[in-house]
Order: sequence, then C-alpha cells, then structure tokens
Amino acid sequence: MNRPTAIKTLRAIARTTFESLPLAARKTLNGVQVYRANLGYTTKGRKILGTARSDGRVVLLDTDTLERYADRPGRLETLLAHELAHCYRTLTGVADTDERREERATNRLLKSWGFRPADLNKFEEMPCKP
Ligand SMILES: [Zn+2]
Repeated sequence: MNRPTAIKTLRAIARTTFESLPLAARKTLNGVQVYRANLGYTTKGRKILGTARSDGRVVLLDTDTLERYADRPGRLETLLAHELAHCYRTLTGVADTDERREERATNRLLKSWGFRPADLNKFEEMPCKP
C-alpha cells in the first residue's frame, strides 16, 4: 500500500472507529488526534504498534503497521479503539500507573465498547502506552 492510500485509510478508520464509540466516550474524547509515526521497538525488541500519549489527547499508530494491516481494517480499528480507550481512561482520571493493570482494564473497556481485544493478540505485541 502506498503512502497516500495509507493516510486516507488512517483518516477513514479514525472516523469510523470514533463514530462507533458510545456517546459518553465520544464526548470525553472530543479533540483526540490520530497521527502516523515511526514508533520503533521496545527495549525487548518488539514492534510498537500504537500508543496513546500521556496527555490523553493524541494517538499514534505505527507507520509500518498501518501500511501492513491497512487491508485488514478490523484489526486497525481494534488497535485504534484500544488506544482511544487508554485516552478515555486518562481523561477520566482512572488510568493505572501499573502497565499490566492498565492494559487489562483498557481491554475490559474495549469489550464494553463492542470491540474484541482478542483480535489484537494476532499482532506481534499488545499496543501499550510508552
Ligand atoms: Zn495498551
């Protein structure tokens, strides 16, 4: 997939994913921006697929991941919704500083929003906050 197509795809999934969220989440998340970025690897050498910045207002999705999975939009939507769930938890003041607990709570929220966190298990790594 070429770059302009990938950017168009990101905009489309950001819109459709956001619109599929419950009203309360959409109200809280008002103003969240989604960008592509070269996110690189963790210290354990695993690809970082997406991340929510700690201010709760910006989601970054990895450029390579976006281009590789753009033809499987369901996964990208779940990944994006996962990061938006981190944003929502941050903005509502319930984000956990313990990474494992935060990931578990985020995926519970994701399920309540109608997504399937299990879809993310097919990725090389669960997306995480920095
Ligand atoms: Zn996460």
